[in-house]
Amino acid sequence: MARQFTESKIVIASHNDGKVGEITNLLSPLRVCVISASEAGLPEPKETGKTFIENAELKAKAAATAAKLPALADDSGLSVSALGGAPGIYSARWAGENKDFDSAMKRVADALLMSGQYDKTAHFHCALSLCWPDGECETFEGILAGELIWPSRGKKGFGYDPMFLPNGYTQSFGEMDPIEKHAMSHRSIAFRKLLSTCFQQ
Ligand code: IMP
Repeated sequence: MARQFTESKIVIASHNDGKVGEITNLLSPLRVCVISASEAGLPEPKETGKTFIENAELKAKAAATAAKLPALADDSGLSVSALGGAPGIYSARWAGENKDFDSAMKRVADALLMSGQYDKTAHFHCALSLCWPDGECETFEGILAGELIWPSRGKKGFGYDPMFLPNGYTQSFGEMDPIEKHAMSHRSIAFRKLLSTCFQQ
């Protein structure tokens, strides 16, 4: 049986305000005190993993050990089929030091154009890892399929949201009401698995 979360506090092991906001929102129905990595004064570890799961686990383990509390980390990104899955785990790094996602989205659009392919399919991928200070982790994944649009549309959300159109929808994540995005996103898919496995008590 998976380890159960029985504590009263949890650290969100992320310095990305967009992600912290979404995860806090997802945790809000639970009676748990949420602390962000910045509030706990935690450093940002280097993402040296080769997969979303490896990076989520290394971030959650580092935060849990430093804060001596269970920690939840998300590693996520946009994977574009015609680009062999890029930017993938490098999604944040494509935005550079200044975290400039207008440039990162343009870089994706340019790379797609240069690839000479018409395939605009892409997906958002999320690995969500809950780790305890003793090093034990429970990790879950969520994937949401869609296609890229260019020019991008909308100012809501964060990261690559304005260029991502989820399958079956006419609004991009950048145009959509955040509540609608949260209900279907790769993060909420992984989160539902986490809830049904580790929050049964
Ligand atoms: P990391 O997990 O901290 O390496 O960063 C993941 C990056 O992927 C973010 O900085 C965003 O650029 C992108 N990303 C992940 N999830 C989303 C999302 O829900 N919308 C838009 N971009 C996302």
